[in-house]
Amino acid sequence: MNIATDPKSQLSPEANLLAAHPAATGILTVDLDAIVANWRKLEKTAVPAECAGVVKADAYGCGAAQVARALAAAGCKTFFVATLDEARVVRPAVPGAALYVLGGFFQNTGAAYAEIDCKPVIGDLNELAEWDVFCRRSGWSGGAAIHIDTGMNRLGLTVTEAQGIIPRINAGDHGITLVMSHLASAELLNNPANARQLTAFREIASLFSGVPASLANSSGIFLGPQFQFDMVRPGCALYGINPTPEADNPMQPVVELKARIVQIRNVERGDTVGYGGTWTARRPTRIAIVAAGYADGYFRAASANDGTRGAEVVVAGKRCPVAGRISMDLMAVDITDLDKNAVRRGHMATLIGEGITVDELAHHYGTIGYEVMTSLGRRYARVYKGGNAITEPPSLPPAEPAAASA
Ligand SMILES: *Cc1c(COP(=O)(O)O)cnc(C)c1O
Repeated sequence: MNIATDPKSQLSPEANLLAAHPAATGILTVDLDAIVANWRKLEKTAVPAECAGVVKADAYGCGAAQVARALAAAGCKTFFVATLDEARVVRPAVPGAALYVLGGFFQNTGAAYAEIDCKPVIGDLNELAEWDVFCRRSGWSGGAAIHIDTGMNRLGLTVTEAQGIIPRINAGDHGITLVMSHLASAELLNNPANARQLTAFREIASLFSGVPASLANSSGIFLGPQFQFDMVRPGCALYGINPTPEADNPMQPVVELKARIVQIRNVERGDTVGYGGTWTARRPTRIAIVAAGYADGYFRAASANDGTRGAEVVVAGKRCPVAGRISMDLMAVDITDLDKNAVRRGHMATLIGEGITVDELAHHYGTIGYEVMTSLGRRYARVYKGGNAITEPPSLPPAEPAAASA
């Protein structure tokens, strides 16, 4: 039957997607409803603290504007990005929200902050001085956060430096809308650094009278109410990464990644597969070549060589192991154990989803879920589910010219 005349409703969701994206090597589906559900869960856990949304790095690869818009619709009122350019992208999606830029204040960028209407997170006395000069000269009073370092030694004023600005806080009209710090080891429940940072932050934040305080990232929320202060700043947990790696993941998965099977080939026992010939077939083997590689953020570290297992993908509902090295644009998968007719050229293999989590892939890559997410490739067709139908409609393409056999 001609696909173009086939009512959409009769096609499986996957067939629909493929029809809408006939040239796509891969399809990345972002479930905005799952992100919103994760945010609501974190909000409930942290109440009465405000639950912000961290949407830096393009919302951990999920699409900053789409994610911010969906979270704002769910009631999220404060957003964090890393850079001014990211703020520029997020601002139109969340017109009424507070928007903070985490990455530090750079010289001569005050006007851009005012233009975008976002707030710098200031972590250095020179930054504060430059910001003050800009505000005085321009009359801008959009506010700024003060970041205090309590033990991570990354960004932030020292506690002593922060004490130096308490007189200004006490004098009122100080333009500081948030005082914050960042936990270095929040995902490790019993790491003593957490209690040390908590004590240090509690003391200094209490001197910022009337200024809301914020300490916890995703994992910090699960360290207990004493870590939650007035606002929590989850990022990774919104996107389905486990914020409590020592326990089961309380969050819902958010992304599904499928890539197209472009060839199926038979390999004889003793033949090798892929660059360097590092993987040898131990039996007559069927190999599916899948159109995703390290240029798509599927790390080469997930390769399988003789003697070392690599990652797995799901084909036709079953887990199948990677065979050989991951190349730039392609990877090979051993599908010998599938029914012969279960899979054909053009079908999709699931790289994330159907039980394969971002955290599982991170394990194979030798990294953390954050890096898996922020590495997700730009070549995939991106599809959004939920979130008030910002979804790209999977419209069906015109029919292919009839094949010779028709
Ligand atoms: C990235 C970041 C967060 C979010 O951290 P997650 O671990 O992803 O929840 C919060 N605060 C600061 C300062 C950050 O840089």
